[in-house]
Amino acid sequence: MQNSHLLQNFIAKSDVSDVLDSALKGQPLGLNECIRLIKSQDSFLIGHVGNILREKMYGNTVTFVNNIILNYTNVCVTYCKFCAFYRPPGHSESYTLTLQDIIRRVIVARESFGITQVLFQGGHNPNLKLEYYETIFKEIKKRTPEVGIHGLSPSEVDMISRIEKISTREVLDRLKVAGLDSLPGAGAEILDDDVKAEISPLKIKSHEWLRIMEEAHNIGLKSSATMMYGTVENEEQLARHIIKIAKLQEKTRGFMAFIPWSFEPNKTQMQSEGLINYSSGGAQLLKMIAIIRIFYFGLIDHLQSSWLTNGVGMAQLALNYGADDFGGTLIGEEVVSATGARSTELSSQKIIEAIKQIGFLVAERDNFYTNIKYY
Ligand code: SF4
Repeated sequence: MQNSHLLQNFIAKSDVSDVLDSALKGQPLGLNECIRLIKSQDSFLIGHVGNILREKMYGNTVTFVNNIILNYTNVCVTYCKFCAFYRPPGHSESYTLTLQDIIRRVIVARESFGITQVLFQGGHNPNLKLEYYETIFKEIKKRTPEVGIHGLSPSEVDMISRIEKISTREVLDRLKVAGLDSLPGAGAEILDDDVKAEISPLKIKSHEWLRIMEEAHNIGLKSSATMMYGTVENEEQLARHIIKIAKLQEKTRGFMAFIPWSFEPNKTQMQSEGLINYSSGGAQLLKMIAIIRIFYFGLIDHLQSSWLTNGVGMAQLALNYGADDFGGTLIGEEVVSATGARSTELSSQKIIEAIKQIGFLVAERDNFYTNIKYY
């Protein structure tokens, strides 16, 4: 009771007291409230409310997934300025994994680490037809049916549809039949076309990302949603991104989770042009985690702690600001490792220890966020 009084006292003194009060009462929040939270300096208090809401949903349990990433090709013709991973067609460092490579990696990872998910993402490679993906997904399902395929972001689906000259809906239908289970939310960056014009002018526009996600949800393919902040966006554009995803979720209920990524400028065109020199840092991550939990409370269930772009220590803190999922082991990650930022894979044991170290119970989940094992 005393703690609750203390909290009310702190909240009463905050510049966003009315917003936090509404959040704790479960009242709906809108664009202006979101912008005010983003602009507020009261990160600790916002984080405290984020943590209360996480606790209401998950108590003391934090999840992770045992997975690998297959970055199947780095060949890409979209040349995003924030990306250090891609190579143009014909480049000496370009690669495309073969079906044999992929199947070998999945089988070894299943047998050695017990993975339950493969995250399948790559560049926009103009030489890869729909059949490449269909063959791979069918073979993964045949050889390792217990492994969920979380693959192909909306911009990759769009690329395939342009190569095949068929609709994105048809691409999704065929991928689903081949074994695709769910879509990652990559490629959204910030759903604002002014931001996209500056950082990824050749990528699909915001409404196309939303349309393809809606098509996926409508045929029963669930997905995650992401946000890559820390480039050129302002607070309002950030808030509008959060609201656009909330609006689609109200319609389809297809987003299982949200993952905020901070932009890592190392070795990117944005850094070499002097546009952005530093990533936005830990304090901003924690604030974004808390705001996302507050905004999506009752709407999008799961929120990942983003250890990949911010490191394990920050991810531990994020669990105290509203995140409930540590993400995956990510064995084989190539995209963030191309920036040279940090080690980009963890063993499940390391994740379990990192979660237990700060006093949480650990549950391993599958691709669909169903808990399958407790530690
Ligand atoms: S982010 Fe994706 S689409 Fe953009 S350049 Fe990198 S690989 Fe290509």
